[in-house]
Amino acid sequence: MTERSLLMIPGPIEVEPEVMRAVGRAAPSHMDPDFARAFGRALGRMREVFGAPSGQPFAVAGSGTLAMEMAVANVIEPGDRAVVVNTGYFSDRMGAILERLGARVDHVRAPVGGAPEIAEVERAVAAEATKLVTITHVDTSTGVLADVEGYARAAKAHGALSAVDGVCATGGERFLQDAWGVDVCLTASQKAIGVPPGLALVMAGPRAIEAWKARKAKVPSLYLDWGEWLPIMQGYEKGAPGYFATPAVNLIAGLDVSLAELVAEGMEARFARHRRMAGAFRAAFRALGLMLLPLREEITANTLSAVCYPEGVDVSLVGRVKAEGVVIAGGLHPQAKAKYFRVGHMGAIAPSDVMATVGAIERGLAASGYRFDLGAGLAAAQRALREVASTSA
Ligand code: PMP
Repeated sequence: MTERSLLMIPGPIEVEPEVMRAVGRAAPSHMDPDFARAFGRALGRMREVFGAPSGQPFAVAGSGTLAMEMAVANVIEPGDRAVVVNTGYFSDRMGAILERLGARVDHVRAPVGGAPEIAEVERAVAAEATKLVTITHVDTSTGVLADVEGYARAAKAHGALSAVDGVCATGGERFLQDAWGVDVCLTASQKAIGVPPGLALVMAGPRAIEAWKARKAKVPSLYLDWGEWLPIMQGYEKGAPGYFATPAVNLIAGLDVSLAELVAEGMEARFARHRRMAGAFRAAFRALGLMLLPLREEITANTLSAVCYPEGVDVSLVGRVKAEGVVIAGGLHPQAKAKYFRVGHMGAIAPSDVMATVGAIERGLAASGYRFDLGAGLAAAQRALREVASTSA
């Protein structure tokens, strides 16, 4: 018998069978009318998923890093100042992208596991004319959840645009792009969106589009230029196929199915389910005596958990948990990499995934020689799942 294993890393995630069936069908022509309708539906549903009725969606072939580049390359011009709200590895990456684009970049940093105070960000933005403030909604390296609404408000108060990296958040963490005044948000297909890797998704709000239209310098990359993609995306939304660069047709077919499921679940219900699953994981880790990397509850992500190894346990735990049938990830932040592991819990995550994962982690911990009450994490997760179910019933 082939061993089945459960993929519980922070992306790629387990993809629903109906999405995989759509991805696995013969590749349609990108000019096919049925494909055009599917692409158009997916773009329309992106607005619902991002809470961005006034946004312009873009879906192009590429990973999350390409989405990061597209989101900022269209608004930043050489010499512009950008402030990075830095909560970890992926905020550093955004800083590196902005520097490549010729921006003057200032980071507002917090210690590993922390998030900068809004007042600090506001001071940094107010100090000099600022074009853009970037925020990582969930930094996948630390499991830190940013107060996007607060930071975006601080940016707007000083005339700056805001860009949100939602790669580990969009579709899982509560996010309302229009209501929160966020100008551009980006994500990728392989996390809470529930599609295999390969699609870069960007939602540009009206102020971001205006900033792009007002640019003096050309967007430095043809592929990233909204000017090339805008007529294509607008065409597909009207059911009229077009060509600038070949879309990842199979993944777009999967996106159509997956976003239909997200919207059918209801975004608020989906965010609540992610909070419930994360709460059950946290209860289990607490019962096992494990500490989380995020320093405070209110900045702890609901899409993944970053968990510190207890005394005497190291990265070999990841292999032991895998031997028990569940794939988790090691640390990523350069300053703390060897001190923690990560468990992704987004997408179609359900109570049975929580129980299977906590069970495998317990057996891995026991095999690592960690002394604890076997089953304590499972019992705590059960109670947390029961409590939320009965309070919301
Ligand atoms: N931003 C965040 C928050 C991420 O988690 C990731 C991927 N882990 C990226 C950006 C980059 O995405 P990709 O690996 O798909 O390029």
